[in-house]
Amino acid sequence: MIIFKYAEALARYIQQQKHAGKQIGFVPTMGALHNGHIALIDRSKKDTDLTVCSIFVNPTQFNNPVDYQKYPNTIEQDIMKLEAAGCDMLFLPSIAEMYPNGTNNLEQYDLGYLETLLEGKYRPGHFQGVCQVMNRLLTMVQAHKLFMGQKDYQQCMVVSRLLQLMQSTTELVTCPTLREADGLAMSSRNLRLSPEERQKATTIFKCLALIKEAYNQHIAWPVIKEKAVQLLAAAGFRIDYVELADANTLEPADTTTGNKVPRVALIAAFLNDVRLIDNMLV
Ligand code: AMP
Repeated sequence: MIIFKYAEALARYIQQQKHAGKQIGFVPTMGALHNGHIALIDRSKKDTDLTVCSIFVNPTQFNNPVDYQKYPNTIEQDIMKLEAAGCDMLFLPSIAEMYPNGTNNLEQYDLGYLETLLEGKYRPGHFQGVCQVMNRLLTMVQAHKLFMGQKDYQQCMVVSRLLQLMQSTTELVTCPTLREADGLAMSSRNLRLSPEERQKATTIFKCLALIKEAYNQHIAWPVIKEKAVQLLAAAGFRIDYVELADANTLEPADTTTGNKVPRVALIAAFLNDVRLIDNMLV
């Protein structure tokens, strides 16, 4: 695996490979890699000729400075995992490489209502930060395909919107969420949970499974939501949201009857200061 610290060298190498007819796959990450990330690398290797992974903890997408400071860094293990997975290139830029003019007064993107609901509502500025870093990364890498996880459902929709705004030819491939044996969605932030919290964390998955089952039995949404909220609270979670939304638009679709638009259940909640999110198509 070739490790690049500078965008210019990375872009030059990728252009050479593209001229030689290679299809380029791109997996952007913030490191602390787990098998969910590696599944994206595997998918990219299956669908393209050369895979680029980036590891960059993007300061502009953290609305909470403590979350940024405490974000896990396991770079040596990450490099070993990427080598073992057969990743071809790793882009490991510094903050100065990504934001040579600093991180103040950066460009803003028209994300419409996506920015005002769910993650957008509870993490103001987060998706602007995601777009700021993704615009830069996508421009540097110029991949044919971009692989991202359904775990961050709304992020996939935001990046899809960004690709439109950029008039990019990169194709977004959304990949399924990888879970631990007890259902907990794999996440870098799981590393910050104590053993006791780790056990309780599976409640999010249990609630999503319960929502799916109850939804399909046409139980009224307020009843389902109340049950999920109770279960989360009993496990010690502080809840940001438990919502049912239109799976295509993410607009609230919080009834279990009526027209048959596909729906997705989404949960965001804290265990102490660790914020976990997950979702499930119902
Ligand atoms: P992150 O490092 O958290 O920014 O995530 C990098 C990419 O990995 C994003 O596209 C995430 O959606 C994806 N990802 C994170 N967790 C999982 C998971 N459990 N399964 C599949 N993809 C994931």
